[in-house]
Amino acid sequence: MDKFFGPLHVLKDINLEVPRGQVVVVLGPSGSGKSTLCRTINRLEPINSGVIAIDGKDLPAEGKALAGLRADVGMVFQQFNLFAHKTILENVTLGPLKVRRTEKAEAEQRARQLLERVGIANQADKYPAQLSGGQQQRAAIARALAMKPKVMLFDEPTSALDPEMVQEVLDTMTDLAKEGMTMLVVTHEMGFARKAADRVIFMADGEVVEDSTPEDFFKAPKSDRARDFLGKIL
Ligand code: ADP
Ligand code: MG
Repeated sequence: MDKFFGPLHVLKDINLEVPRGQVVVVLGPSGSGKSTLCRTINRLEPINSGVIAIDGKDLPAEGKALAGLRADVGMVFQQFNLFAHKTILENVTLGPLKVRRTEKAEAEQRARQLLERVGIANQADKYPAQLSGGQQQRAAIARALAMKPKVMLFDEPTSALDPEMVQEVLDTMTDLAKEGMTMLVVTHEMGFARKAADRVIFMADGEVVEDSTPEDFFKAPKSDRARDFLGKIL
């Protein structure tokens, strides 16, 4: 798969297969293409060559079928992207009601279960601005889970949080990983990478430079670029 922004070759011959249940942490310096990789996976960004398949099904580039298949990919961004004028419960039920055509009572019941699971059941009727950053990000995770995605993408989900709220979001993600969710996580949280990842991918300049286990990657990175990167952040 390749992706260009005009003349800029941002993703170069990326060939990535993630087996069901695997937790992949994507590392790499700023500008290496990590966010673009996430965005291409659910076709928020078009690609210039190659295919994107979820559960063996090609994701169409556009059209009606895209909405349903895109819903198989849950995404959590650095900014929480909750709808400010809807309650937390409404934020979580919106997708199931609109895209999955779930009954309202069922959507609400499931939303409450999900809010319970991410530890903010008592915030259901509040508006996003009334929650802390960590709670908002957990609401965003619940909202993504409400669509029953086959894979969850996280793009630096803790980067915008105050330090004391980082762990609660990482704990929620670790729980999800333990429950067997297939996950692709862009993060600079090395503790999470060591503990929760099955696989570490290191990107630089739009290429996958290393693809290994966390043990191997942290103990003995093979490339100069990865050594350099680790030297700067550890
Ligand atoms: P990362 O998430 O690893 O920091 P990005 O995927 O955001 O990297 O960016 C990869 C490269 O693509 C960078 O050179 C960035 O400037 C460029 N880029 C990202 N988004 C756009 C865009 N919408 N238009 C043009 N260039 C972009
Ligand atoms: Mg990014």
